[in-house]
Amino acid sequence: MNGPSDASAMETVSCNACGSENVRVLFHRPYREEILADGESFAATTDQFQGFGRIVRCVGCGLVFTNPRPREALLLKGYGECVDETYLDESSSRSINAHLSLRTIRRFKRSGRLLEVGASTGYFLNAARVDFEVEGLEPSAWASKIARDRFRLDVHPETLETARYEPESFDAVAMVDVIEHLADPKRAIERAARLLKPGGVLYLMTPSITSLSARLLGSYWWGLRPAHIYYFSPETIALLLESAGLEIKLTRSFGRIFTYGYWLSRLKHYPRAVSGAVALAVRALDIEDKLLYLDTRDSMEVCAVKR
Ligand SMILES: [Zn+2]
Repeated sequence: MNGPSDASAMETVSCNACGSENVRVLFHRPYREEILADGESFAATTDQFQGFGRIVRCVGCGLVFTNPRPREALLLKGYGECVDETYLDESSSRSINAHLSLRTIRRFKRSGRLLEVGASTGYFLNAARVDFEVEGLEPSAWASKIARDRFRLDVHPETLETARYEPESFDAVAMVDVIEHLADPKRAIERAARLLKPGGVLYLMTPSITSLSARLLGSYWWGLRPAHIYYFSPETIALLLESAGLEIKLTRSFGRIFTYGYWLSRLKHYPRAVSGAVALAVRALDIEDKLLYLDTRDSMEVCAVKR
């Protein structure tokens, strides 16, 4: 296995959606390769934002991605070893957010077998089991064990590549904040599509690189971080979904609930004038543990149905 400081930790790739090698550079920060040795950087609650590398846009189709990017084997190792105790702090918020996603999914599928890819500690599946027969894949040994022990969920420490499921065996597949982390999102969507029964729904959530916040904040946008290696827009995610034989039924922004304290922690990498002022206000009002629903309109949820 290559060490993180090895020059070959990174690899240059062609566009995942159209195969073109013709790209334009959007942002460039040296990629913090040392994070590959540190499972914390792969955590959902990481505060590793800068050091996101060289982010390019494909001239052919518009897909935005990190290039060069860490080799897939290193990414898999990172997620397998990922431990994220902070993730558990917002358990009530995460359950509510799962119910918000499920409300959307139920517009297209109300029951049957549901698979979550990247199930983490199981909040989403625990909410989904009210209506669905649920199962999950989660590469992190730590997170999948919590899902099994705490929620008694059927969550396997595997990926879409290693899991053995019969084609057309699920009514719904969900990937919440997952697709932007994968080395080959096109392959993942094709595999997910294969697992769906005709009429089954694929539910995706991912940050939107063409959102107003992303455009205004530029390199300060929260979506840019070392663990994200693809940055989709409604148009580029549609390219992958449609080429996998899925028909897009819904694309819209997704707001979430978190405590004020959590939202505040997300501002850490902004200039102190911004984060400091908000921190003072939150503390003065004593609302750190209160819940706040916020739709910054830069996360999108997408439902696509298998033809
Ligand atoms: Zn392309």
